Amino acid sequence: MKKTVLVSGGAGFIGSHVTVELLEAGYEVVVADNMSNCDMTCFEGVKKITGRADLPFEKVDFCDAVATEALFDKYKIDAVIHFAAFKAVGESVDKPVMYYKNNLGSFLNVLEAAQTHGGCNVLFSSSATVYGQPEKLPVTEESPRQPATSPYGATKQMCEDILQDTVKASGGAIKGILLRYFNPIGAHPSALIGELPRGVPNNLVPFITQTAIGKRECLSIFGDDYPTPDGTCLRDYIDIVDLAKAHVFAVTRMIEGKMKKDCEVFNVGTGRPVSVMELVTAFEKVNGLKLNYKIAPRRPGDVTAVWADPTLANKELGWKATRSVEETLKAAWAWEKHLAGK
Ligand code: UDP
Repeated sequence: MKKTVLVSGGAGFIGSHVTVELLEAGYEVVVADNMSNCDMTCFEGVKKITGRADLPFEKVDFCDAVATEALFDKYKIDAVIHFAAFKAVGESVDKPVMYYKNNLGSFLNVLEAAQTHGGCNVLFSSSATVYGQPEKLPVTEESPRQPATSPYGATKQMCEDILQDTVKASGGAIKGILLRYFNPIGAHPSALIGELPRGVPNNLVPFITQTAIGKRECLSIFGDDYPTPDGTCLRDYIDIVDLAKAHVFAVTRMIEGKMKKDCEVFNVGTGRPVSVMELVTAFEKVNGLKLNYKIAPRRPGDVTAVWADPTLANKELGWKATRSVEETLKAAWAWEKHLAGK
């Protein structure tokens, strides 16, 4: 019998890539999404890539406790991967209540449904944002979490704590893994799924590809006076397919009972710091084009540098990021061109 994984927020950027990898690894997947921040483009892409025209899709808002319970009634769920959340840092500062209500409420409903159904394996999509500006680089899972600088960041920390507490109280019925993502970028090599930002992108790579295609006039590089080799910020950019594969390893570890603790934490990154300027230059080189960019003031709230020590995930999950920045930026550009019908 195939094991079934519920992917909440499964029609979005990360969720759709994870769905592809789960299906290719032999899992059955139930994709659930309230479609508040995406359309069916990626879900349709997933069906095409995997040849699964019958892939189950449930339009569910996980803030609706009754609907969440009903989903757990309808399917026998062996693991849930929880992505369904708002993710814009700036917007969270303007609308904290909306962020807390949605990001905490949806996760609490998932955990409650897991409890009422006799337990479950729960994977929560967390973020390197919990480390803030680390004192020591690269960051390990033992690096201290810093106080959150936005309601968005606070919801990631709170959901981590909620899962830890829930696992502890469950007597082994609920197991948890927290994956802390660094900067996921790129798109599936098929160019059938990728990032679909609504309005002006906040993140660097969609802004780069939209500038290259002519949707945006000019990329602003936020600050070139940071204490880094070229003055621009350093991040750990991880290919979206590599990141998606980490989920398959984590789910398998839970389902096969290979966990060393009932709630585990893993960094999902490459261990490779790349500056904004290096990324822009690599994008131009690998895709043979010139990007219109300018140096702009620093963006409030940005940390100077953060990258992962992925040793624990490499060792325990048996997973490793394999794609080069160049391959990833090629895929991101192919996806942008696909969207433009080119
Ligand atoms: N960045 C930039 N211009 C943009 C968007 C982002 O220079 O239009 C920089 C940003 O200052 C940071 C890096 O790119 O140093 C990554 O930003 P992103 O928002 O993609 O991810 P974050 O690390 O903030 O989560």
